[in-house]
Amino acid sequence: IRWTAGRGWHDAQLTPYAPLSIDPANMTLHYAQEIFEGLKAFRRPDGTVATFRPDANAERFQVSARRLAMPELPVETFIAACDALVQQDKAWVPAHGGEASLYLRPFMIANEVGLGVRPANEYLFIVIASPAGAYFPGGVKPVSVWLSENYVRAVPGGMGFAKTGGNYAASLLAQAEAARQGCDQVVWLDALEHKWVEEMGGMNLYFVYGGASGQKPRIVTPELTGSLLAGITRDSLLRLAGDLGYETAEGRISTDDWKRDTENGTLTEVFACGTAAAITPVGSVKSQGAEWVQGDGQPGEVTMELRRALLAIQTGTAEDTHGWTHELG
Ligand code: PMP
Repeated sequence: IRWTAGRGWHDAQLTPYAPLSIDPANMTLHYAQEIFEGLKAFRRPDGTVATFRPDANAERFQVSARRLAMPELPVETFIAACDALVQQDKAWVPAHGGEASLYLRPFMIANEVGLGVRPANEYLFIVIASPAGAYFPGGVKPVSVWLSENYVRAVPGGMGFAKTGGNYAASLLAQAEAARQGCDQVVWLDALEHKWVEEMGGMNLYFVYGGASGQKPRIVTPELTGSLLAGITRDSLLRLAGDLGYETAEGRISTDDWKRDTENGTLTEVFACGTAAAITPVGSVKSQGAEWVQGDGQPGEVTMELRRALLAIQTGTAEDTHGWTHELG
């Protein structure tokens, strides 16, 4: 779908996958006016297909568009484009039974030729699809994380809450540092004090406290400060954990709290969540001055209960009381 100043959105087309022809002076290549989304279509037990919360992706896409001075795509148009592609590619949605899905990648780029820094007058919105296997084909495996004190992903007033390529470009060197330290993933901290936990590479974080003496654990996720992404899985789990009787909260967690509460046994589980893996347990943590195992290093009970509950709704094996699944027949 194209957008042109004065004309708005027009020219929706469903075409076979093919390379784009881009002018070397296309403004996106120079000034990075680009935003994207990620969502999945799952096969249900009766063979029908449904996407998960496409309205939430559409709304976040509008938030990203505003921050990048790009035109907003109506929510209905975003959903209709995803629906049309899934209908076309329905045979590519894997069978029900595992965690495999058809991954959708809607994105928007500036599509004007020019070398001056300003918002473009023309844009392209495109959705592509790719089958995605189960994230953990051999069973859920905890990740090791590196607390990034040298690099920050986003600053107050910046673009951290937007899903734009620049944020991921900024993450690559930190991710390489994490890998050099023998860790799977980087954990971002706040830009000012380098101590408040924000999120993981491409996932939000959750902290599970207590559960001793017969009490239900309390589940806390870092609050949305503006420099982390408002994950749709994060939001779904806040509500799902509430449904399951857990006390939930959004709050501030420092790296010192994380270490201390792990050592004193009150912080029993930590996990990350996002569209790609649903939920990934954190098994160990490393920073410049410290290193610890999270709990017993194995996937925790609450982590796995929430993971099963979320995937059951996404794949259509549990009742969806929130109206999150968007059925496509
Ligand atoms: N944070 C970042 C930086 C991400 O890229 C993602 C993946 N979109 C998430 C969090 C999780 O968001 P969601 O649950 O919407 O996939």
